Amino acid sequence: MIDFDTRLRAVRDVSREAAEDLRARALSIDTDPDAMDGHLDSPVFEMVRQANTPARFREPVPGAKLPLLLDSSSCLETVVGTLELARGDAGTILACPSPALAGVFVEMLGNEEQQERFYTRLHGGRTWTFFAMTEPGRGNDATAMETRFERDGNGGWLLHGKKRYIGNGARGGIGVVFGRTGRSALSIRAALVEPPVAGWHGHRLDMVGLRGAYLSELTFDAVPVPGDMLLGEHLPVTRRGMWGAIKTFNNMRIQVAAAAVGTAVAMAEYVVEHRKAAPGAHLMSSRVEAARELVYEAAARIDRDPERGYLSCAAKLGATRMAVEVARWAAGALGPAGLLEHPLLEKWTRDACAFEFMEGTGNIQRLHVAKGYQAGDADV
Ligand SMILES: Cc1cc2nc3c(=O)[nH]c(=O)nc-3n(C[C@H](O)[C@H](O)[C@H](O)COP(=O)(O)OP(=O)(O)OC[C@H]3O[C@@H](n4cnc5c(N)ncnc54)[C@H](O)[C@@H]3O)c2cc1C
Repeated sequence: MIDFDTRLRAVRDVSREAAEDLRARALSIDTDPDAMDGHLDSPVFEMVRQANTPARFREPVPGAKLPLLLDSSSCLETVVGTLELARGDAGTILACPSPALAGVFVEMLGNEEQQERFYTRLHGGRTWTFFAMTEPGRGNDATAMETRFERDGNGGWLLHGKKRYIGNGARGGIGVVFGRTGRSALSIRAALVEPPVAGWHGHRLDMVGLRGAYLSELTFDAVPVPGDMLLGEHLPVTRRGMWGAIKTFNNMRIQVAAAAVGTAVAMAEYVVEHRKAAPGAHLMSSRVEAARELVYEAAARIDRDPERGYLSCAAKLGATRMAVEVARWAAGALGPAGLLEHPLLEKWTRDACAFEFMEGTGNIQRLHVAKGYQAGDADV
């Protein structure tokens, strides 16, 4: 069991307070993910963006409590914050213009100018980012991607291909696109792209869950990419493309687990608030608590040894499965018309099913857990 020190308690309490504001916005963003004007200037959106930004690129914002508190290099602190914010609403977090996955990748593979360009572009809170990896029919098996960078003859590249299920893709102002420069796995590279740009087409997909994530399909028809926008050029060839993507997923997997647990906590609490003696409530609450402890434990372990992913894969697997179980229980716990009468609960029961697909599906986590077990990672 993780003991909360004063810092962790402060991160939890500030995030918990902010979560109320996220929750108040949840249904309107879910109903119309395009209608964002009324949210972009809110302190809570500002807070989520700044908390996701490395300290050297943050804008000074008076009264922004979480970014001042949070040590974003501590996985446990970030996980505690994410879980509490997701108790407010995970879909709304994903709707915030923030560095998100692309930020983690750019921090790892971008040179100084690229990082500066990326983070400065986000100032003001009106620019969404994207991390475009998945393609139609090629999700978990990213090494089979077909999107390609072709040389333009002038030191730059032309991007051709298609991506699908890309968070904030069609409304993004800057982000990372993966493609290949040749056939080998090492030829998979990523570039910074700033739409609108010639040959770039995108549209939002109509999703059932986590609609704030604005999943999109993107098509690239000879999109020009300047040579200095290719990421990782200053790094050894083995550390340029897929290496960075795998590291990014390893970092973010536990955050997805925390978001799934936060959503489950929200559903369980909501049901009990509206029906004190709901059958099964005690069992569900115990399962949620167990998943929460596992997520905290996995985060603390990542802080001790970031290379060992066994526990974070197990935590994501357990958390996403548990969130779906809580959603199924919650759907019946308030009576036959429960979901009709409680639209927020109905929304969360849809959201709960989406976490499994983020940062590696359940089967992929099972493969990682099995490999980690064989390698002795389960022992510590
Ligand atoms: C809310 C949300 C946000 C997302 N955001 C992004 C984003 O910002 N950028 C991005 O690039 N993508 C994003 N995705 C896409 C996500 O990464 C893919 O959905 C995921 O990689 C799975 O790919 P797929 O849907 O093509 O399924 P597939 O990879 O085709 O898998 C289909 C099924 O086969 C199983 N399977 C696949 N391979 C194996 C194997 N080797 N062994 C056993 N079983 C296997 C899977 O577990 C799954 O059940 C997002 C998805 C969601 C739901």
